[in-house]
Parts: sequence; structure tokens; C-alpha cells
Amino acid sequence: MRVFCASIATETNTFSPLRTDFTDFEQSFYAAPGEHPETPTLCSAVFPALRKRARAGEIELVEGTATWAEPGGLVNARTWARLRDEVLDQLRAALPVDAVVLGLHGAMIADGCVDCEGVLIEAVRQITGPMTKIGVTFDPHSHLSTRRVENADVITVFKEFPHTDFAETGENCVDLTLRAARAEITPTLSVFDVRMIDVLPTSRAPMRGFVDKMLALEADGSALSISTIHGFMAGDSPDLGAKIIVISDGNQSAGDKLAHDLGMELFSFRGTTKPEFLTVEDALTAANDAKTGPVVIADVWDNPGGGVAGDSTILLRAALDMKLKSLALATIWDPMAVRLCHAAGEGAQLDLRFGGKTSAFAGAPIDATVTVVKVASDAVQSFGASVVPLGDCAVIRIDEIEVVLNSNRSQAFSPDLFTNLGVDIGSRKILVVKSTNHFHGAFALVASEILYAAVNGPYPNDPTQTKYTRLTRPLWPIVANPFEVENA
Ligand SMILES: [Zn+2]
Repeated sequence: MRVFCASIATETNTFSPLRTDFTDFEQSFYAAPGEHPETPTLCSAVFPALRKRARAGEIELVEGTATWAEPGGLVNARTWARLRDEVLDQLRAALPVDAVVLGLHGAMIADGCVDCEGVLIEAVRQITGPMTKIGVTFDPHSHLSTRRVENADVITVFKEFPHTDFAETGENCVDLTLRAARAEITPTLSVFDVRMIDVLPTSRAPMRGFVDKMLALEADGSALSISTIHGFMAGDSPDLGAKIIVISDGNQSAGDKLAHDLGMELFSFRGTTKPEFLTVEDALTAANDAKTGPVVIADVWDNPGGGVAGDSTILLRAALDMKLKSLALATIWDPMAVRLCHAAGEGAQLDLRFGGKTSAFAGAPIDATVTVVKVASDAVQSFGASVVPLGDCAVIRIDEIEVVLNSNRSQAFSPDLFTNLGVDIGSRKILVVKSTNHFHGAFALVASEILYAAVNGPYPNDPTQTKYTRLTRPLWPIVANPFEVENA
């Protein structure tokens, strides 16, 4: 059995002031055919899963390109065309193949193409013909179009947010696709449109129980696979919103019913899934009043992992105005300020302007006399087993507040973001991080308390206020009951 695999992945925030081109893919992750590491990346876990099968003699594997760009703004049209054509040419050269497995994110939007993954899967189908089995993995923060469903045989999606199960999702996709190619199963996709968009962390109720239920239904044989698309509210897509995917073994009506029932259960959770979000002042006051530290405050919307720059100064400005002491913040993305700090050197004092440069909504740049506490080249933090590049960094001190400036955009994943740069987090009262939920796992181990601060900025965090231009159907919370609207 001959199998081709490839991975093109990013998450496009169409409201972001950033733009994404080939350099962004190159800087984040780009592996030419044969150069994929043995360890999986978030969206390319199908590569190591397939290599294992190839080494066991089960398949002959032809690897294409694997690449990923940190979430950002609209993808440049030429960059999308280059990556798409590169992979499709590799596929044509690999023919004939029995199966194609793609590691995708599912929220990539390019200038002139609102459904990059749908276009890619459809092109793969046209090249291979109807007999080849096509398996795809997605991130749940994605847009599920009919085009994708009609052209793929198998779709699996990370169930967890934070996405701790990306390797299992790749394994499941490979397993089902190969079984289908051997005609052992007839994967049949049922999709239910939940017609809502919300933030659905699975580290807490009610989503924790919902994921456990999906796993139990898979384990008892009710379906070959069950996935929930959460949707990605920062992408202006006609397919925006939550959806349920059930893969049955040739039983469309049973699959449809299960997808409907799970979808309506998910719909009943609307508005109840998020932790409490505080104002900036309430979060800083509560953290400052805490008896023990460090209290971690997440700046949930200025999250580079959601495609914004991560250079908002609003929370820092408030902390400076409140004259808070013993606070450390990571990170503010400002390559120019990092360069100035490196030039000044550790221990130097200088008048520095930093942050607030990419958006009119992220606060003004801060002008202050700062001390350069630490400079580092090619700094990193960890996210589970993976190493996340931060680029050149500088730690600066203003009064009794320390700020980590970075030059490669990244959300905060782990406390070693601070400790690798010499910030002693155990002795700090307040740690501010930019991340929505991925920070939670590692920071929960060191935090006396975790608070979430909702700070408005360039991220479109309220769908009732966001100027979507491509919606094709009613969605909660934009309408109170999108199912009634349909029936009216
Ligand atoms: Zn995601």
C-alpha cells in the first residue's frame, strides 16, 4: 500500500493587523520532504505515525512538505499558491497512491481564498480520483466547510483544549484511513452544524465531561470517531462556528442522529464554558491583595497564539499607574526594542519606547527609563515536549516591574519563559502572561491562583460586535436562537 502525506498549517485571524508570508512559515517550521523531525509538531503528527507503519513494513510512505506558521493575519496569495502547488506537485509525482493523509489546521485564509484547506483537499481528490482514501486532521479552532467533508474520507480533530492530544489525533487519522484503504471499514461522515461560536476550554466543566463522553462513545463502538469543531471567532469565514463530526462504519442515519444529539448537548452549554473574565483593574487589585504569590493573570485576548501581535500595553500601563511592585510580565513583542536593549547591554539604563506599535487598539507605546536586566539570543520556552522559539529577548525593569520583550511572536506556555531569562518567579507576587488557555497546564503548577483578565484590543472577542462579512447562517450569540430563526 502506497501512502502520501503532507502538512500545511496556520490559523488566520482575518481581523489582525499582521500579515503572513513564506518567511513566517520558514521561521516557525518548514520541513522539505524527508526532513520532518521524528517528533510531531501540533499539526504534523501524522508524519511520525505513518513512519512507524512504514518501518513495520505495513505501507510504503512518500513524504511531502510539512510546514506551520505561528497564527497571524491574512496569508499572502503568492505564499498560499506556492505551498499548495508544492504539495500538489509532490502528490502527482507520487502517483499512484492508495491513501493520502494531510495534517492541516483548518483555519487558514489567504488573500483571495477563504477556504484554503477545502481547496487543497478538493484538488487532492481531483488528482487521486475517487478510489484513493483521504484522511485529514484539524485543530478544533477551524472552519468546517462542505467542500472538506465531501472530499475527505476521514476527518479527526484534537478533542482537548489545551491541545494535549494532538499525537493521538494523528494516530487515529492514520489508523482509520489505512483501514479504509484496506476496505476493512467504510468510514461515513455525519456532520451537525451547532450554529454557535464560543470559547470551549476542556480543562473545566462542562466541556471536560463532554470530551469524556466522546471518548466513551468511541470506546464502546458507537462510532469509529467523534470530533468537535469549536470554531475560530477571529476568522471571517462562511463556515464559522461549532460543528460535530461523527464517523460511522457505513451507517449514515445512526451517525447523523448521534451528531445531532451531541450537537444539541453542546449548544445547551453556550455561554457557560468560559472561566470568569475580570476587568484589568479587578484582576490587578485581586492579585495585589492576595496573601501568597505568585498570582498568574492571563491577558486572554492579546494572545499571539490567536493571531494578534502580542504587543498590547494596556495591562502593563494599568500596573504602572497603580504602582504595583513585584510584578513580571511576558511577553511584549517588540524586535526593535529588543535590538536597542541588546545594543545597550545588561545593566545599562536607557530611555526606551516599547510595545503598542502594531494596532491602534493595543494601547499606546510606553516611554520609560528602563534598566536592562538581561539579554539573550535565541531564547526558548517549552510546551510539553516541544521547544518554542522566542528569538532574541530582553528583560527590562521599570520601577519594580519586569517585562520580557521578545522578537519571535509566541504566547506564554510555561514558567521557563521567565526562569530561562533569570526571572525568579517564586519571589514575584504577580505574573502576567499573554495566552488564552494553553498556559494553564504548566503555570497551574507554580501559581497560588490563576485569574483571567479580558482586555479589549485587536482580537475580535465579542461576536455580537465583530464586523463579519461572510456569515451565511444565523449563529449564537449573534442571534439568541439560531435554530428558531431557521424554522421561522
Ligand atoms: Zn486550536
